[in-house]
Amino acid sequence: GACAAACSNGSITIGENGVVINRETCGACLACANACPAHALSAEGTVYTTDELLTTVLRDKHYFDTSGGGVTLSGGEPLAQHEFLMEFLAAAKRARLHVTLETCGYSERFAEVLPYVDLLYFDVKHPDSAAHREKTGAGNELILANLACAVRAGVPTVARIPVIPGFNDGKGLWPAYTALLKEAGVSAAHLLPFHQLGQEKYRGHGLAYAYDGVPPLQKEALDKMKEYFENAGIAAQIGG
Ligand code: SF4
Repeated sequence: GACAAACSNGSITIGENGVVINRETCGACLACANACPAHALSAEGTVYTTDELLTTVLRDKHYFDTSGGGVTLSGGEPLAQHEFLMEFLAAAKRARLHVTLETCGYSERFAEVLPYVDLLYFDVKHPDSAAHREKTGAGNELILANLACAVRAGVPTVARIPVIPGFNDGKGLWPAYTALLKEAGVSAAHLLPFHQLGQEKYRGHGLAYAYDGVPPLQKEALDKMKEYFENAGIAAQIGG
């Protein structure tokens, strides 16, 4: 196909089941996507300059001002583009936008964003560092230090817990969860039930999806988790 011909790395072969991309050698140049006449391969996302993004956001400024809303920086992971993020945050501050940052909190330079953020949605994936490392590739020490740092800096912070079957949904973890949130000074949590919406993204990137066929969590289990958190003094809601 046109994609294989366009790839100067030789990363594409056409097999019996269609296009196979060798992710080890792929340089993400997107020549294959640009060459594909049927758009079967396509690039995700849009490249913006800070000014372009701010201009786009400011189109809704009147709505933000009248509704009490603002802009939410999410992802992916906004902190993965630190320089761009800092530029945009400074511009958003000058434009008097309310900014919510949704983050995994894993950055050595996390404290730099805090003066520009009005609300933090902060992922706390697992209270145990070894379990956190096993599934995400990194321990949670830096993340928890950043969480406490945000609270100390006075940024309103909501912990976001993606509740994932077999990973962090066991009630044996609830005491550790609530203890670490209280120690960090966090008083609100969103319990985000596991869903299958990521499945197609994994497929699109040619990645195996570890939670294929895993059923959604039972509402009763989440209700009990919420109740436990609330009894421990953490205002909890399911979803968010
Ligand atoms: S994005 Fe990867 S597979 Fe596609 S042309 Fe570039 S190197 Fe080859």
